[in-house]
Amino acid sequence: MKGIKDQIKTYRCLNCGWTSLFSETESMPDHCPNCLSGIHVEDEEENECGGILEPVGIWVRTEKEWEIVQRCQFCGEMRTVPVTEKDNRIKILSIASKPISSPPFPVERIEELTRIMGGSGDTGGKQK
Ligand SMILES: [Zn+2]
Ligand SMILES: [Zn+2]
Repeated sequence: MKGIKDQIKTYRCLNCGWTSLFSETESMPDHCPNCLSGIHVEDEEENECGGILEPVGIWVRTEKEWEIVQRCQFCGEMRTVPVTEKDNRIKILSIASKPISSPPFPVERIEELTRIMGGSGDTGGKQK
């Protein structure tokens, strides 16, 4: 069947099952507005990953610029994506309110995280 269906793209979250339709002209979200997870398409070396990027924290750059810190459940790579207007505010706040003293990611990843965030959080570790 050809027709209008061809102009509609479907976004389906592999984590929570949230689905939404997007027209050809709209850009697909890089993360799920409902659970804030994304799909790790490829890593830094451009190897395919396919793991689920789970939200592990919220980074407040400025009052208006919030970013979701995501970690790939499969390979452990971290990245940040900007919060969008469509994102679930309650989910964002619940992640943001997690106590920083018990980070939901391995301690050895903190250096990597601070590097992503601009590198001012030197923990005194070795350089790569
Ligand atoms: Zn989702
Ligand atoms: Zn990955």
